[in-house]
Amino acid sequence: MKQKLNIEEINDIDELRKLLNFINNKIELIESSKKALCDLILKNHEPICPNCHSNSINKNGKYKGKQNYICKECKKKFNGLTNSVFHHTHLSFKQIEQAFECVLHLFSIRKTAKIMKVSIKTAFTLRHKIIVCLKDIINSFVLNGDIELDEYYTSINLKGTKKENMPRMSKKRTSHGNRKRGINSHKICIVSGCDEFDNMFFAISGTGPVTSDMIKEHVVPRIRNTKKIITDCKSSYESVAKEKNWNLKQIKAGTYSDEDNNNLAEINSLHQQLDIFLSNFRGVSTKHLQQYLDLFCFLRYLNWTLDYSDQLIEFRNKIFIKNTDINYLNVCNNYSNLDFHDIYKGYNFHPLKTTT
Ligand SMILES: [Zn+2]
Repeated sequence: MKQKLNIEEINDIDELRKLLNFINNKIELIESSKKALCDLILKNHEPICPNCHSNSINKNGKYKGKQNYICKECKKKFNGLTNSVFHHTHLSFKQIEQAFECVLHLFSIRKTAKIMKVSIKTAFTLRHKIIVCLKDIINSFVLNGDIELDEYYTSINLKGTKKENMPRMSKKRTSHGNRKRGINSHKICIVSGCDEFDNMFFAISGTGPVTSDMIKEHVVPRIRNTKKIITDCKSSYESVAKEKNWNLKQIKAGTYSDEDNNNLAEINSLHQQLDIFLSNFRGVSTKHLQQYLDLFCFLRYLNWTLDYSDQLIEFRNKIFIKNTDINYLNVCNNYSNLDFHDIYKGYNFHPLKTTT
């Protein structure tokens, strides 16, 4: 008969070391397989058919420790990983956890690849699979109460664009900075906001100075039950505020706050933090910028709500149950809502096709 082990009662050091060895071996075994991944997903998620989304399913044997299922409706066979972010990876549980850790530490792709012992492209693909899944989470945050709104402007970065797809000549990278100076149609406008409850959003809304249409499309859906909205003195906010009946407080140019001490300190501080965050990645390609903005918001949320030791668990458990169609082949596509050829159409630039 098996007796239940009470660790509290063991005081013999040899016994404890033996036990530790056993636990370490067991963890190593689990980490090296994909079963742990499956178990985690199933723990957080009822299995449903990836084909017809029916939950009327039968168990259909096991393969390499993973439970297989068959759909009673459409007869499709699947397992817990089918349709999850990690369906097609050949990586172990340990490597996937390392990928999450590297994102939390803001490590470069090169460093991540070295830690995970995979190619740079694999590390790059996995990072994007992970961060693209944050979109749903970030989009579910709504701002309420006292809200600060302001825009963040940045230059277009065409890093990773194939020569034949370039809309203009490639530029040597120059220093960042001058966020607000010289806002022209080649600057990306990121609308952003935060509220008194630490909810926030950053959304690419187009190029050039912010317009009331951009605010209506990208800011209004993020706001609910507002008491007061503070912005700078742009008229585009004024017209939207009138339409939506916002209690708008605008801070005059060149001043820090108004007579009631309304100010934009919180959102300005977030913009400074975003500067530092983006500089970690040595220039983020604009086609992936929204994903990085979502990551920025998500990491703030983790930092404000959880101890570091719980952040990794929260992060991976949130992502494990998501699915994405990003894969090794399409990860370099343009995932922004911007059409670079349209932005640069005045250039009449035709990249030379390199034919050999
Ligand atoms: Zn089905």
